[in-house]
Amino acid sequence: MTMIQLNLQQVHTRIAAACQAAGRDPDTVSLLSVSKTFGPEAVRSAWAAGQTAFGENYIQEAVQKITALRQPLDVARAPLQWHCIGPIQSNKTRLVAEHFDWVQTVDRLKIAERLSEQRPAGLAPLQVCIQVNIDGGPTKSGVLPQEALALALQVAALPRLRLRGLMSIPEPAPDFVAEKQVFMRVRALFDALNVSGLALDTLSMGMSADLEAAIHAGSTLVRVGSAIFGARAVPIDSLAGSSPSTLG
Ligand SMILES: *Cc1c(COP(=O)(O)O)cnc(C)c1O
Repeated sequence: MTMIQLNLQQVHTRIAAACQAAGRDPDTVSLLSVSKTFGPEAVRSAWAAGQTAFGENYIQEAVQKITALRQPLDVARAPLQWHCIGPIQSNKTRLVAEHFDWVQTVDRLKIAERLSEQRPAGLAPLQVCIQVNIDGGPTKSGVLPQEALALALQVAALPRLRLRGLMSIPEPAPDFVAEKQVFMRVRALFDALNVSGLALDTLSMGMSADLEAAIHAGSTLVRVGSAIFGARAVPIDSLAGSSPSTLG
């Protein structure tokens, strides 16, 4: 068993324990493994252990990886599913629409419209989440909570997109209680949108450091990178505030 496969087992154990503590069915929480900065061989290793959903932040890096792994690794097994979880510049929407299965970082109508127009006819609709800036974090993208419903209704009406839910990346909080409080605000917004007539089934929140609190708050999709693949060579946080051109 590889280190990645061992780490995956541990993450599954953490998810199961959090579900049990929160009184939730473990089948209601899926794992997105975030493979940014790691090569195709890391994806292959996770895939060999049954992991099929992968998250990527940097479009050009992702497209290379997706293309390299396009040959069915094993026809008997579920195909890879790729989620875009990084910021999207207008000039990258075509690449995203052509290569990804999901986009979790929609926070502007203009980007959503381009993704819908550019989604190839032969592919299933692009599954999307609206990214919410829940705590006003200065370097974070995302729509403000009070603007989420209006954007969600517009996105839900686009023909080649299928709106699935909300995604959020809160600022790191000092402890479990504080983490859960912030995640609960995303959860409350998610519930409010569903009361308003949307049928959302995906609440994407929680990462390596805070997946337990996110699961307690109702997350249905945790996005885990370093706990599976190890520390990244490039500290992603240092890129968050830099200019879009360096993000690829
Ligand atoms: C990098 C990244 C993750 C994974 O973060 P880890 O702390 O390594 O688990 C999750 N979500 C987003 C949006 C990311 O950019």
